[in-house]
Amino acid sequence: MYNHLSEQYRKEYGTLQEVDLNVYKNIIGSRKVEEIKKLAELLYEKKWTHVNSTFAGGGVAEMLKSVVPIARGLGIDCTWYCIEGSEDFYSVTKRFHNIIQGLDQKFTLEDLLDLYINTNRKNFEDNRIISDFTVVHDPQPCASVVHGHYEGKMVWRCHIDTSNANELIWNFLLPYINNYDGVIFSHKDFVRGGIKKPVYQITPAIDPLQPKNKLRTRKQALNTLSDLLNKHNIDPERPIVLAVSRYDVHKNQKTIIEAFKQFKKENGKLNPILIMVGNLASDDPEGLEMYQKMLKQIDGDKDIYPLLNIENNDESIGSLMKLADVFVHISTKEGFGLVVTEAMWQGTPVIGSNVGGIRLQVINDKTGYLVNPYRVGRIKTFLHYILSNKDEKERLGYHAVEHVRENFLITRLVRRYLILMRFMLGIDFPYFRI
Ligand code: UDP
Repeated sequence: MYNHLSEQYRKEYGTLQEVDLNVYKNIIGSRKVEEIKKLAELLYEKKWTHVNSTFAGGGVAEMLKSVVPIARGLGIDCTWYCIEGSEDFYSVTKRFHNIIQGLDQKFTLEDLLDLYINTNRKNFEDNRIISDFTVVHDPQPCASVVHGHYEGKMVWRCHIDTSNANELIWNFLLPYINNYDGVIFSHKDFVRGGIKKPVYQITPAIDPLQPKNKLRTRKQALNTLSDLLNKHNIDPERPIVLAVSRYDVHKNQKTIIEAFKQFKKENGKLNPILIMVGNLASDDPEGLEMYQKMLKQIDGDKDIYPLLNIENNDESIGSLMKLADVFVHISTKEGFGLVVTEAMWQGTPVIGSNVGGIRLQVINDKTGYLVNPYRVGRIKTFLHYILSNKDEKERLGYHAVEHVRENFLITRLVRRYLILMRFMLGIDFPYFRI
């Protein structure tokens, strides 16, 4: 029922090595690297544990696969555990996710007591986490704070947009949340009433050294993608509109397709294509159904390429982001949206919705354009503007890269975690309380 990283993660995805922070010197400079190492000195051999609900798929897993090796390289004893549950458990927690982000969902007492609470309890029946600092990510394992076996300081790290969370579910989760020693949100607007513990803001980040995010030339990107482009008969010389995300109702793929279909009808001369890439996360049971709905809507349109679980995922996504002329991410709710960061890091401007964490990343007319996620007209206007102005694409792309370098690289995320950990362990005071 309960798997240690060293057993399951290694079996399926390979071993997470220690990473020496010095490898980031070229990207963030020696001073920042030394500063992080200094913060880690008093944390040497301390135990730092992460608990979430999937080793792959989605932004949390993406970040942990970098945070854990970097922490280990700093001499911290960092581990990543994943709770396990039945399909029914993930159906309940996906409904939590949806209702917290504003959708109407139904729950029975059995869902909450038998599935949610019992799964949290069962995962810890034979396991105890003794750790100086534990970060529990998102609602799936949230209740384990009281139903599990933990020792040490614990924070709940919420990655989703809770700004309009349904009262009933929020009130159900609150007693659990208030059992932690603190709560972390990605954006100050997500902080809801009723939290009695200190609240912190930490923004997510990408690892510039992961294969997905390494910087590449157009030629290198084309080489990496040659099989994929051939297989799907995609002409990379046509203007590319790209969208990447899980297939999920909040990601609003429906509006992207609608906007693109109208746009190409009105701008036939530009001859654009839309590439949509998505994968299925093991803790997200709705993905396949969403993908099938999307195929229906696309209805065989030859200029739209809906791809699912692509081969060589990371290298291919980074390369597609490099080739794309514009990246579109118009979620109706978004905790942060790592895909936006990844696209910006490849120098591609983003048309993003003016919601949640996307607002921290897309600066209007500087790194891209912000739109209302339902206003097809504005989306078409900016598609036209970017696709017909090469210089503008370059300008926006340049600022996008610099904005990510300054604010959203994994080293900054690790640094903020270390500051919080030092505070929690009584080593010193934090300065980023919100
Ligand atoms: N992703 C991927 N392959 C896909 C679709 C998404 O590797 O086919 C990755 C994407 O590059 C990003 C993460 O999944 O790193 C999604 O994170 P984000 O914060 O955008 O959304 P979440 O899924 O966490 O809501």
